[in-house]
Amino acid sequence: MAETGEFELIARYFSGQTTPRQDVALGIGDDCALLTVPAGHRLAVSIDTLVEQVHFFADVDAEKLGYKSLAVGLSDLAAMGARPAWLTLALTMPEVNESWLAGFSRGVIQLANQYQMQLVGGDTTQGPLTISIQVHGFVPVQSALTRRQAQAGDIIFVSGTLGDAGAGLRLRAGQWHDPRLDQNDIQFLIQRLECPTARVELGQALMPLASSAVDISDGLSADLGHILEQSGVGACLDLEQFPLSAALKKIDADIARQFALHSGDDYELCFTVPPQHVAEVEGRFGHRLTRIGEIIDKAGLFYRDGQTLQPLKGQAYAHFTH
Ligand code: ADP
Ligand code: MG
Repeated sequence: MAETGEFELIARYFSGQTTPRQDVALGIGDDCALLTVPAGHRLAVSIDTLVEQVHFFADVDAEKLGYKSLAVGLSDLAAMGARPAWLTLALTMPEVNESWLAGFSRGVIQLANQYQMQLVGGDTTQGPLTISIQVHGFVPVQSALTRRQAQAGDIIFVSGTLGDAGAGLRLRAGQWHDPRLDQNDIQFLIQRLECPTARVELGQALMPLASSAVDISDGLSADLGHILEQSGVGACLDLEQFPLSAALKKIDADIARQFALHSGDDYELCFTVPPQHVAEVEGRFGHRLTRIGEIIDKAGLFYRDGQTLQPLKGQAYAHFTH
């Protein structure tokens, strides 16, 4: 961007709009931000990039896009049990569109302030519309929720409902439709795609109770697959128990199950809980969670068919065929 333009834009839309934090010694305006991590904690850092026409439709509402750009990062913090603190924003735009910037910044700032996060820096450049947000959070030393500690006998849970964003994406793209869906259902599914809720409080509360966690960005099969691979275990799922929204309960059950198993962008948490903590997890969060299966010794992803384990089929399982 032209230098003067860049500074003006930052001053107008980004500086001083998010929560000022004590742990920010120096925020926007210098070459670097200077930040203090609290004693006894580690810094959890994650970055996500959204590219126009790859990750979002060109005509998506700017405020919703701002909100989602941060929500996907918050979801990564949630999956580690981290407490959100700071963000940086790298924005590449083809031209300066002030009404787009006003909407976009509103969406980012609203969600940042919901979690008392401070925007501490970024970069502004010219090019095809691309948004990168890096999030930073705190997690007590030795207690982050990783993908590597699931053990046979642990119970697998997911938050919320699965497959909504995938259905919303196909509806939005005009690739799929079901006559049983009414306008409210369609709106709900597209809302789940465009304004996902990161399960930040749940992730933090689960930190001392769960053995592993992942957020569902690429689809349950792929994301649970990361836990299985990194923990060296397998899973047996109870497909009848999959949590579906009222909208997805209306459509063909097989299609709903495909969305729930394989489609991404739901940003729910999938996590494993050792048997001794299951009662506490169900007691405290049961209304928002569903038990969908169990971790087993045998590598791979299976479902129970009577007495036997059947491998789950589908492209996402190609790497489980050993
Ligand atoms: P430099 O050229 O030294 O990298 P810039 O001129 O790019 O610095 O940015 C000036 C200041 O504005 C820096 O503190 C930077 O972090 C901040 N900044 C730039 N773009 C953004 C943005 N999109 N959002 C928030 N802060 C930004
Ligand atoms: Mg710069």
